[in-house]
Amino acid sequence: MTDETRWLDLLQETGAVQSGHFLLSSGRHSGRYVQCARVLEDPAHAETLGAALAACLPKGIDRVASPPLGGILIGYEVARGLGRPFLFPERGPDGRFQLRRGFTLRAGERICIVEDVVTTGRTTRELIDLVRGFGAEPVCSAAIVDRSETHAVDGMPIHALVHLSIPTYTYSECPLCASGTPLYQPGSRKDPAKGAE
Ligand code: ZN
Repeated sequence: MTDETRWLDLLQETGAVQSGHFLLSSGRHSGRYVQCARVLEDPAHAETLGAALAACLPKGIDRVASPPLGGILIGYEVARGLGRPFLFPERGPDGRFQLRRGFTLRAGERICIVEDVVTTGRTTRELIDLVRGFGAEPVCSAAIVDRSETHAVDGMPIHALVHLSIPTYTYSECPLCASGTPLYQPGSRKDPAKGAE
C-alpha cells in the first residue's frame, strides 16, 4: 500500500472524503465531497498528518502560515512537525488578509503556506501577496488534499498527502442524476447513508 493510499483510506474512514452524489454550494453536482475538518476532529490524526506533511517539505522553512479557518489546525500541526512558529491572517474590513494580534513577518523569512485543501489556489495566492508585502519569501505550499489541476500555485509546488481529481457537473450533464443516484446536500441535516429524502 502506498503512502497516498493509506492517507486516502484515513480520509475516507473519517468521512473527510465521501463518495456518493453531492450538491455543492456552487450548485454543481459531484461524486465526491471533501471536508477535512472531519479527519482533524481527532487531534491524534491532526498531529500524524502534520508530521507527514512536515517530513515531505524542503529544508530551511522559517515559519508556517495558514488561512483561516480550514487551514489553521493542519498548519499548526505542520509547524509543530517542523519545530517552527505558526501564524494566521484575518480578513480586514476591505476583505483582504492582514496580520493582527501582534503577528508579524520579518523580511527574508522563508514561509510555507499550509491549507487543508487546495482547489483553485485563490486563497494561497492571497496569502502569497500578504507574505511578500512584508518582504518575506513564500517558498512552498502544502495541503492534506490537492484538488488543483496544476499541482502548483504561481509556480510554487503544492506538497500534498492526497491528490484528487473531482469532476463536477451541471444538473443536465450529471451522470449520477442520469443513473438515479439520490442527491445529498453536504451540511444539511439529512444523513448521507440514507440519501436525500
Ligand atoms: Zn447529479
